[in-house]
Amino acid sequence: MIPYGRQDIDADDIAAVEAVLRSDFLTQGPAVPAFEQALAQRVGVPHAVAVSSATAALHLSCLALGLGPGDALWTSPNTFVASANCARYCGADVDFVDIDPRTYNLSVERLAERLVRAERERRLPKIVVVVHFAGQPAPMAEIAALAQHYGFRVIEDAAHALGAEDQQRAIGACTYSDATILSFHPVKIITSGEGGAITTRDTVLAERLSQLRSHGITRDPQQMQGVSDGPWYYEQTALGFHYRLTDLQAALGRSQLCRLDGFLARRRELAARYDRLLDGLPLLRPWQDPQRRSAWHLYVVQLLRHPRPAVFEQLRAAGIGVNVHYIPVHLQPYYRALGFGPGDFPDAEAYYARALTLPLHPRLSDAEQDRVVAALAGALP
Ligand SMILES: *Cc1c(COP(=O)(O)O)cnc(C)c1O
Repeated sequence: MIPYGRQDIDADDIAAVEAVLRSDFLTQGPAVPAFEQALAQRVGVPHAVAVSSATAALHLSCLALGLGPGDALWTSPNTFVASANCARYCGADVDFVDIDPRTYNLSVERLAERLVRAERERRLPKIVVVVHFAGQPAPMAEIAALAQHYGFRVIEDAAHALGAEDQQRAIGACTYSDATILSFHPVKIITSGEGGAITTRDTVLAERLSQLRSHGITRDPQQMQGVSDGPWYYEQTALGFHYRLTDLQAALGRSQLCRLDGFLARRRELAARYDRLLDGLPLLRPWQDPQRRSAWHLYVVQLLRHPRPAVFEQLRAAGIGVNVHYIPVHLQPYYRALGFGPGDFPDAEAYYARALTLPLHPRLSDAEQDRVVAALAGALP
């Protein structure tokens, strides 16, 4: 099976992990801060806080920004469930904003309309999670202008978008957001096995995040409410979690980060190649906003004339690991039980009905890509 996504691990990555295995620390050693520094430097941001997953990163960002019961978080329905679940972990409500049918990102027009209504009803969101779907950034300057006007906070879910650019600005730099979250799951742009990070320009937020990822405990006398009893002393000042990354994972992540430019170049080359090879087939290729540069986590086409189930099954039978991103989150039974249902976000639903994710990862060879295209052409008579 040619997978839709997979990691690319080389000898340097293995050596980096092996060096940690031979060192004094498997966790809470020097590799985590080294990875955080490299990440912050790469995207051009003062702070990066490494955590155990992007899901943990979303949860902690929401908590640190003060999301709680009675508050609302809005996000795109075209995302992985974690982008919405983070609000529920905090006891807050979730709502969705329908997608832009060209980019499949949250629609800024729909967002603006919904905010007008929400202001009238005094139900403005506290946080909007903006997902850079497939690696293509959403228009952050426009969203930030709305955030300023209506007073909500912005978290960028950049699980797909490490290395992407929004009007020449690196995603992760938080030029127009309070925080950006990244995922290092094996199918994402770089991997640490499991892992995630939050980047931010806000020093106080970064401190709160690093405390929350480790039980809410601080060892810094400046952060303590009482007086230290001695060198062993620590204080728990908030209810935190165990969301730490290990040194093993951080070493892999840092080694992978050195390879980011190569990964991005190959992903962009393969995407351009798909664009050429698929020309003429009865499908919609991904539209690229000329003001933005995608990290190409996913290459998604929409079938124009053929029912997806048959095409999907024919390709899987031919050893092509196609996939579907995403089942609209509001249609999941958990969210239906909260009152959402079919017809709520028609653009996301129409997109979902026709979407098909083709294999795309740095190790995909030209010959494998040719096989994907030939099988797809054969399934679209
Ligand atoms: C993968 C993904 C996540 C969750 O990442 P984990 O590191 O697996 O927790 C969140 N949001 C989006 C958009 C994702 O694709």
